[in-house]
Amino acid sequence: MEWWREQEARNEVRFRAQNEWIEQASQSFASTAATDTFVCECGDATCAQPISLTTAEYEHVRSVATHFVVAVNHEDPEVERLVSENGRYAVVEKIFGSALRLARATDPRSAGGRRE
Ligand SMILES: [Zn+2]
Repeated sequence: MEWWREQEARNEVRFRAQNEWIEQASQSFASTAATDTFVCECGDATCAQPISLTTAEYEHVRSVATHFVVAVNHEDPEVERLVSENGRYAVVEKIFGSALRLARATDPRSAGGRRE
């Protein structure tokens, strides 16, 4: 795939890993109603826009390996599809082949090698 697509996909999985860490840290405070600040998982390397989700909302996004949470209007229609959006954040699904494979392969929730 073109280098910038590879780069973009890698940025997204990197921010996802960071958000996993934020969530784990927040869970130790047992807060489910309050929102936490996560980081936009869009493909822009320079973007680190904070977005607010509750732990439950974040868990819901994370329950699908190919879903990412981004700031509103940060989706890239070339590689992802808008799943849902509210005033605070948007959920996108990877549709571009290589980005999709990378998202699955690096899913921290997956034991690895899980077959569809
Ligand atoms: Zn962004």
